[in-house]
Amino acid sequence: MNIRLTLSCCLLLWISNEVQAATCDKQVLGTSRTITLKREAALYGTKQHKALPLNKNEVVLTFDDGPSPENTPLVLKALADQCSKASFFMIGQQIERHPELAKRVVAAGHTLGLHSYSHQRLAKLSVDEQLADLKKAQKIYQDTFGTSAPAYRFPFLEETPPLLDTLKAKKMTVASIDLTIDDWLPDDTTEILLKRLSQNLDKSGGGIILMHDANAITAKAVPALLALLKVKGYKVVHLQWEKAS
Ligand SMILES: [Zn+2]
Repeated sequence: MNIRLTLSCCLLLWISNEVQAATCDKQVLGTSRTITLKREAALYGTKQHKALPLNKNEVVLTFDDGPSPENTPLVLKALADQCSKASFFMIGQQIERHPELAKRVVAAGHTLGLHSYSHQRLAKLSVDEQLADLKKAQKIYQDTFGTSAPAYRFPFLEETPPLLDTLKAKKMTVASIDLTIDDWLPDDTTEILLKRLSQNLDKSGGGIILMHDANAITAKAVPALLALLKVKGYKVVHLQWEKAS
């Protein structure tokens, strides 16, 4: 009886793995490899810092400002359809409002970083206010996911010396970007975002792409944007971080 039970469990596991593999066929964008970053102070993204160790025609998909109940699920679906993994830089306040959705992003195999608590222009705040914003974001992250946040992306990519020092002391990766699709103008269309992505990829040859899962225009365009990456021969690299010690 026990043997039969064990066999049927294994069979079910095998079937579910096969089903998963079958949906990730060669027609989709997929995820070609992962880079696991150490928990050490490092700053990446050529907009402000050094480049990640990527090869030509490799991209890292990143999404900011979520989780958003209206739009993040659409982005998750598009990524799942392409078997591609991304990194989401979430706003602490949004994690607090939608913890189950934030956990759903992690359950889908994506990685997370913080993107402040309140998404303000940090340079306009006092040092104490900046530090308080980071502390609040870290607390909600710890409370929600049971681990410390491994990475941080500054709102508007506006880095400030006191927060850079604090992130360094906390051994967090500062994640800037290599290219963006400027997807914050509400009147833009999927066609405009596709054109922008294509032009910026032609200039950069790949790198860390900034998109916004909280934006409706982006959520609608992501299936087409991922399809474009596939057509242009780009490979997706998934950023991960060592577990906190
Ligand atoms: Zn943002």
